[in-house]
Amino acid sequence: MNRKPQRGKGRGRGRGSIRNQNQNNTFLQGQDERGLYAVNLRISPVTHGILIQHCKWLTSTLVGINAFNHYFKLLEPLNGETFPDVWDGYYHITLGKFRFPVKEHYELQKMEEDLRNALNELEKQIKIQEWLPQTFIADELEIHSGDNRIDDMEGIDFVVLKVNCVSTDFQEKVRRIMNKLLDTIVAKGCKWESGLTIDNYINRLHVTIRKYSGENSYWSKEQVEAKASELKSLVRKNPIKFECNALDIVQARQQGITRRRLQDKNYEWWSGVTELMEKDRQSKTKGKKDENEPMICSGCDYNLTKKWDGYCVNCANYEINKPIWSTDKQPLTSALKPFVSTPLAIPKKLEPRTLNRPRRHLSLDFIVPLSNEEDWELEKKCIDSIVAVDEQEDLSD
Ligand SMILES: [Zn+2]
Repeated sequence: MNRKPQRGKGRGRGRGSIRNQNQNNTFLQGQDERGLYAVNLRISPVTHGILIQHCKWLTSTLVGINAFNHYFKLLEPLNGETFPDVWDGYYHITLGKFRFPVKEHYELQKMEEDLRNALNELEKQIKIQEWLPQTFIADELEIHSGDNRIDDMEGIDFVVLKVNCVSTDFQEKVRRIMNKLLDTIVAKGCKWESGLTIDNYINRLHVTIRKYSGENSYWSKEQVEAKASELKSLVRKNPIKFECNALDIVQARQQGITRRRLQDKNYEWWSGVTELMEKDRQSKTKGKKDENEPMICSGCDYNLTKKWDGYCVNCANYEINKPIWSTDKQPLTSALKPFVSTPLAIPKKLEPRTLNRPRRHLSLDFIVPLSNEEDWELEKKCIDSIVAVDEQEDLSD
């Protein structure tokens, strides 16, 4: 399997100059390289959900595994569910990237530890976690060409949601935080990414929704392009809100895999569960992944019979690329289990003004209707009250 880590890149806003777009293309090629670390604002749709604002008088919250898939299913009931393919543990907003000058596991470990200590000291001074969570709104879908991507990613378009923070002082504060982080990271011998500045990131915040495979034939490049205007219009009419509740530094997923396979069989780069070769688990085997080797879930040893897409159908845990440092000191654990019991169905009362409108039938799992935005306390409400709603509502405002 050649899935690569999602790193929230894309080209961001589509209004850049040609020069900027070329810079971005070069940058996209770089994104597929191994060994990069990213500074990310973490989005946790599985545990914290995303809120959809259908119109002024109707909002829904999606939470649990595949929350983003459900969002697109809601917009496009026939095929939307299959549209995004980024894993649930990998949603984020990237704010910058850097690279360590070493590659070997034990050297990396030493440098990571050193950096972690420095960042802990910095956090004591600037208290990033107190600035979180931050709430973001996304109402614009952008699709960027994958023509310049490398290896097996060539031709796979990025699909991103452009996001804006609701806090008016977000830009100023995040710029200050990122400059402090950059100084600390560079002082520890890391090389900050050239080509894109912190302001480049801040000015085009986005969440990558689709990055990986072209394996789903329905959503081929041609299909995505054919659907683009319809999807963009649906996203504009049904914007989402979500929170970022931690700032993480994560390594490229592939680097984590390589460190375990080639250098340290005890190294766990993931939280939750991931796929392992059986022999990775038991032995001493060093070497490249054997495509014919049976893969198992690291949590329950279940034999994985289909392509790993970030969670185990047997134990219902999912994979998170464990941050090497985070403002969130709590260990990351899967919170999926509360969501996998059979949901209740509750009828939703229709607002009178919807009655004469054309309706679309929705059948969604994991939706919590919220009466208004003041109830925006996702964590508490969603975890406690996961329900399915089978409702008829008009999606257009
Ligand atoms: Zn499992």
